[in-house]
Amino acid sequence: MKKYLVIGDPIKHSLSPQLHNHWIKKNNLKAKYDKQKINNNDFKNLIDKIKKKEISGINVTVPFKKQIISFLEKLSPEAEKTQSVNTIYLENNEVVGHNTDIKGFELAIKDTKFNVVGKNVFILGAGGVVPSIIYALNKMKVSSITLSNRTLSKAESLRILFKDLKIVNWGQFTDCDMIINATSIGLEDKDKISLDFPTPNKKKFFFDVIYNPKETNFLKTAKKQGNDTANGKKMFIYQAAEAFKIWHGVYPEINQEIEELLD
Ligand code: NDP
Repeated sequence: MKKYLVIGDPIKHSLSPQLHNHWIKKNNLKAKYDKQKINNNDFKNLIDKIKKKEISGINVTVPFKKQIISFLEKLSPEAEKTQSVNTIYLENNEVVGHNTDIKGFELAIKDTKFNVVGKNVFILGAGGVVPSIIYALNKMKVSSITLSNRTLSKAESLRILFKDLKIVNWGQFTDCDMIINATSIGLEDKDKISLDFPTPNKKKFFFDVIYNPKETNFLKTAKKQGNDTANGKKMFIYQAAEAFKIWHGVYPEINQEIEELLD
């Protein structure tokens, strides 16, 4: 029985076990996927277990995607460029860190009707998921990315990785074609982003990385104003599917049943 894990803190909310165990069953694999709350002192022991093949794969979530890097032996180019790892496995006896959030975001956007090529994008937030989003947007050939974060220094430090990033103060807004909420505001139903978006003169596309609740106030307001919207559910499903493919060699089926499983 192969063992897989998602590690983070908090971890209770993670739906990764439901998703992976569903696909494991569907593909008749001898494996089990669990979640584990960890702290920084657990990294070494967990990576040793990968090396000794006691654990076959690990997903990493908040707040450890960067911190885990120094314990790994090799990074994929995507993990290197974003300094963010969400999927770990053993390859040629080396513990490798990869980032499937990039592909998750890219495929989720491709599933929508919105074509990002040549568009101006505005991102709210500068947390762990943001380097993956910026990397994917650049790969998809957007025209410009402007970012705003409550803590300005965190936004500025992203310029080390992404030189062309434009930054504005929290509360400021620049016109754009697509707005992404990549903050955790909205995880609670009562959460509201206190930004006065000008009533749009042209339709925009609003994307929220959050998928539970299904429709945050950010998306509700955007929809009321006549904009197109999408939440982060597909991104979550696709990042998991990419990890599943790496670990088990099969791309899992993504269908209505999967979407309902997460609702
Ligand atoms: P982090 O904890 O690293 O970052 C949180 C971000 O939210 C920071 O930019 C923080 O700003 C901002 N923030 C939090 N509270 C407030 C507030 N009250 N006012 C203003 N800004 C605030 O989280 P991640 O980047 O890892 O994740 C962000 C969100 O994305 C989460 O909701 C997570 O669940 C979701 N996510 C979804 C994925 C998917 O597949 N759909 C994948 C990964 C994440 P500051 O820097 O000032 O603290």
